[in-house]
Amino acid sequence: MSAGKILIVEDEETLLEVLRYNLDKEGYTVVTAADGIQALNSARSESPDLIILDIMLPQLDGFEVCRILRKDITVPIIMLTAKEEEIDKVLGLELGADDYMAKPFSMREFKARVKAILRRAAAQSKPGEASVIRIADLAVDLGKHQVSIGEASVSLTPKEFDLLAYLAGNKGRVFSREHLLERVWGYDYVGDTRTVDVHIRWLREKLETEPSKPRRLITVRGTGYKIEG
Ligand code: CA
Repeated sequence: MSAGKILIVEDEETLLEVLRYNLDKEGYTVVTAADGIQALNSARSESPDLIILDIMLPQLDGFEVCRILRKDITVPIIMLTAKEEEIDKVLGLELGADDYMAKPFSMREFKARVKAILRRAAAQSKPGEASVIRIADLAVDLGKHQVSIGEASVSLTPKEFDLLAYLAGNKGRVFSREHLLERVWGYDYVGDTRTVDVHIRWLREKLETEPSKPRRLITVRGTGYKIEG
């Protein structure tokens, strides 16, 4: 079984071959691209687990490639930099790269970074205990989008789920209606804070034994809402 699929984007043939050889030897499946356009195509068609992305590339440079990919792809990206100012740019632009390596680098260091990033990514995406928030007998499964109280599953609309997940993920903390509207509905939502009150009411009807005397979803007078932890 492959240890993971890695896309290497590098126009310098010698370096590309050295990287390919070393990753191949470690058991990874390696695909390559030699310019920015090829990189975008391969990132989508090959679904790699990690992208090694050089900055100086023909067609589109690595900065552009990273920026475009980050709009809809969460794959880890390691940038390869050749100059000091490129490092500053990688760190300063918040491009969404996960790591960078300054050329020249040792193969040992390179392989260690690759391994560390893939391990971290695998741990994050693994559905397990960490993705279920439990508050007393309430369980919110973030991966499966399921909610249950004890053994009974509760059916929520997507927005009810998002609101509950946000509060549950920050249990005990009080949030204003404005804050919840912004975080759960998004900045460009056109509506008012009563939307939040309405959804809280619906959630209470589904989650509380006595919706008029809530014990989970608490109103904090003059401030907002919290979930009791
Ligand atoms: Ca290059």
